[in-house]
Amino acid sequence: MSSPLLNLKPELLWKHFDAIRQIPRCSRNEDAAGKYVVDFAKQHGFESKKDDTGNIVVRVPATPGKENAPVIVLQGHLDIVCEKNSDKEFNFDTDPIEVLVEGDWVTANGTTLGADNGIGLAASLAAAEDASCVHGPLELLFTTDEETGLNGANGIQPGFLQGRIMLNLDSEEEGNFSIGCAGGADSEITLSITRSSGGSGSALKISLAGLRGGHSGIDIHTGRGNAIQLLARMLYKLDVPFDLISLEGGSKHNAIPRETFAQVMTDKVEELKAAVQKQFEQIRFEYKAVEKNIKLTIDAGETSDPMNLDSKDTFLALVVGLPHGVMVMSQEIAGLVETSNNLAIVKTMTDKATAYTSTRSSIISALEATRQKIDAIGKLSGGSVEHLDGYPAWTPNLDSDILKVLKKTYKNVTGKEAKVMAIHAGLECGIIGEKFEGMDMISFGPDLNNPHSPDENVSIASVERFYNHLSATLAELA
Ligand SMILES: [Zn+2]
Repeated sequence: MSSPLLNLKPELLWKHFDAIRQIPRCSRNEDAAGKYVVDFAKQHGFESKKDDTGNIVVRVPATPGKENAPVIVLQGHLDIVCEKNSDKEFNFDTDPIEVLVEGDWVTANGTTLGADNGIGLAASLAAAEDASCVHGPLELLFTTDEETGLNGANGIQPGFLQGRIMLNLDSEEEGNFSIGCAGGADSEITLSITRSSGGSGSALKISLAGLRGGHSGIDIHTGRGNAIQLLARMLYKLDVPFDLISLEGGSKHNAIPRETFAQVMTDKVEELKAAVQKQFEQIRFEYKAVEKNIKLTIDAGETSDPMNLDSKDTFLALVVGLPHGVMVMSQEIAGLVETSNNLAIVKTMTDKATAYTSTRSSIISALEATRQKIDAIGKLSGGSVEHLDGYPAWTPNLDSDILKVLKKTYKNVTGKEAKVMAIHAGLECGIIGEKFEGMDMISFGPDLNNPHSPDENVSIASVERFYNHLSATLAELA
């Protein structure tokens, strides 16, 4: 059966996408996709190089007469997120992605499509092969394992690339050019806990759940509640005597915590329940626009040795005092969060408690300043603070030369003005930019919806405009 993709334009781009979608390439299983790229290079007599992480660079000579133009890096990632609908029988390790064309949209059939970033890969291969595309020397950079933690980009060694202008082809809104991303780094505070034996009264388990959570970068500006901090706040203000056994919430460093559980003991069960409920009603009112499903439950708990009063007070103060949410908005790019912190995970053990936070910023010094604040709060509480290694920011540069070129060529090709943006999460450009000093970078792509889900689709008309824009940009730079 011939593929419905082979009738689409631009032909070369869809030819490559059609081949790539038949190659299994879940994150960390990119060998076959890498081989496709290396074979492509061999066929055309292009030099290619693979590093230990599996990243590949293909060097494409300039169109005759354009040899002196600057080297342009075209970059995309080989891997895809492998997700399917639960009722779909599909083996990502062996089966080709099934594709459907419906009107202007290409989708898969119950699985992710892999247009993220298959269209970017196909565009760079097409540009290298397309006789009508005029360009200077190109380096096609294919990275591995972007989706689980930018691991391919992390493994690139200095010297792998010669070019100092890079077009990252991994964006998802046509006409929106990304020129920056956040760097991030985590910190963990550990506090010693002293417990008294026994404790008196009845044990209760207080659960705060039903919050929306979300990505700690992309969703941090939405004002969603942090379940850990809200429950700690309720307990911190409580005017009924109680002992604290544990407070636990959050599971991932990059997710806003959705649920938190406290184990307490008290002699005044009904008063405590009423006081907690009252606090909860205030919080529910405060968050009524964003947290419609927030839920409090108080059940019978299990008796255990509670923290002594000192430990309890210090621990709750620490959790309440740690920053959460947006710290600063960008002063240059409207709507961009510059710096934020996510109080991600809190755990209590027999003799210690830990609080884990995840900081992001597009400006490294601002990231460090926030970690300094966390450090200070941790130390004021008498705890020890460990700062874990992070990943670099890509600081937006509104004066970037490549941005000027892309804006102009986009206007020429589509008649429309481009929008300039940055995101509050990590991108491969952040890591690559740190390794190759002076790299002028930009990220763009066609309209692509719902990446990482079986509803992923890509606009055919937008892919064509994206490719024409890429060609026009390469010609302009040559
Ligand atoms: Zn991607």
